[in-house]
Amino acid sequence: MKHLELRERVVEACKFIEEKGLNWGFSGNISVRLPENGLYLMTPSGLRKSGLRQEDLVVVDELGNVIEGERPPTSEYLMHLTVYKARPDVGAVVHAHPLYVSVLAALRRRLEPLLDEIIVYLGGEVEVAEYALPGSEELARNVVKALGDRCAVILANHGALTCGSDLDEALDALVYLERAAMVSVLCSLMGRPNLLPPEALEIERQLYLLRRGLS
Ligand SMILES: [Zn+2]
Repeated sequence: MKHLELRERVVEACKFIEEKGLNWGFSGNISVRLPENGLYLMTPSGLRKSGLRQEDLVVVDELGNVIEGERPPTSEYLMHLTVYKARPDVGAVVHAHPLYVSVLAALRRRLEPLLDEIIVYLGGEVEVAEYALPGSEELARNVVKALGDRCAVILANHGALTCGSDLDEALDALVYLERAAMVSVLCSLMGRPNLLPPEALEIERQLYLLRRGLS
């Protein structure tokens, strides 16, 4: 995908997460790996996602130095860059504060295998990264540790991070995660849910690894 098209896709993605109620206002951030030059296209710090324009985006190197753009990158840039470093299979990262994931985040409760799609699309039970201050190196480390080889992680008392081989996959993962979190919260009001049988977990996990080229 050409650089300008990619910028447009990131701007559209910012609008998409707002319109779907997956993010609000100044929170959240999106990045994409630029494989042709080893750099990263990122949303800037301090602007509302809904009104973002292509020219507001910034390009940074693997240390977060701004190579292109007028603004500083998102204050969470370390979290994005640390995920890319740990996961060569990842081409895009989305961080947002969806409502139901935020409920699990406040409870520091992992997302259990309640639905097939949690395993097939997210890679397994979604863990909670230990709390650390937003933007800190410690949070970046905690996120990578709890993410493992999956495509989603819950950030304690904060929100969600999802990733994928491209931006569409990372956005899909965010939608699946929030829907599953909603099911989890609703289940907790009605009793204890039945979890997937272990044999289904095993087969679906293999499907996930195969699809992502990780097996
Ligand atoms: Zn955040």
